Amino acid sequence: MLELKNISFCTSEKNILNDLNYTFERGKTYSVLGNNGVGKSTLAKIIMGLNGYYKNHKGEIILNNEDITDLKIDERARKGITMAWQEPARFKGMSVIDYLKLGNKNQLTMNDMIKYLNLVGLNEKYLNRNVDKTLSGGERKRIELASIVILKPEIVILDEPDSGIDMMSNSMIDSILKELKNNNSTVITITHREEISLLSDKAILLCNGMIRNEGTPEYIGNIYKKLCDFCTNINEPAE
Ligand code: ADP
Ligand code: MG
Ligand code: MG
Repeated sequence: MLELKNISFCTSEKNILNDLNYTFERGKTYSVLGNNGVGKSTLAKIIMGLNGYYKNHKGEIILNNEDITDLKIDERARKGITMAWQEPARFKGMSVIDYLKLGNKNQLTMNDMIKYLNLVGLNEKYLNRNVDKTLSGGERKRIELASIVILKPEIVILDEPDSGIDMMSNSMIDSILKELKNNNSTVITITHREEISLLSDKAILLCNGMIRNEGTPEYIGNIYKKLCDFCTNINEPAE
């Protein structure tokens, strides 16, 4: 249902993605596993259609047999593609209640909101907080994850959902993925951690901007440990 055809992306300095081909099926959870700098976030930004990536890559993106390569980010969002950023957003003056209700056409009750806050490890006291710099990065990230579950997106990309969040247990991420899957969302979880990739139905190993392999998360986890020590797209040594 989401097809990537011959996706390449390069800057003046280097090739970041090299001729990627993949088809994501409806209602399945996928992990894209790979070391820092292999092109994971770049792939997410291309699927989402971010400025600087949209129209600057080669290849086509097909959603439900429709070519969406030329659609902008807001048009793709209306088609049901959404993304949780590695760096979560801030909204000056917007309460958590208003934020959770954004773009949501159904009647969302207070109890629903509390249920989804609990899912991401927050309590009801957060409802009247503002989604701004008074929340820590980790808190904003949790609230963003709650808002995505509420949206019931057709396709969601979670870029390192646990990054910058203390005490976000694997079981909490597992619950978020299960809730999304129950709503028949297609989930693409980007991670460099094998434990996180184990939570998805299928795993894709990204190495130097290429799909190195795909398969069960267990199989891909094994390959990752054996092959990917030096697999990175960063020129400097990793810290
Ligand atoms: P990952 O998410 O796998 O850690 P990224 O996709 O963020 O990696 O980046 C892959 C590589 O491409 C990195 O070395 C990064 O610095 C570089 N890169 C990403 N986007 C750009 C850009 N717009 N211009 C120049 N370099 C970029
Ligand atoms: Mg990274
Ligand atoms: Mg990244």
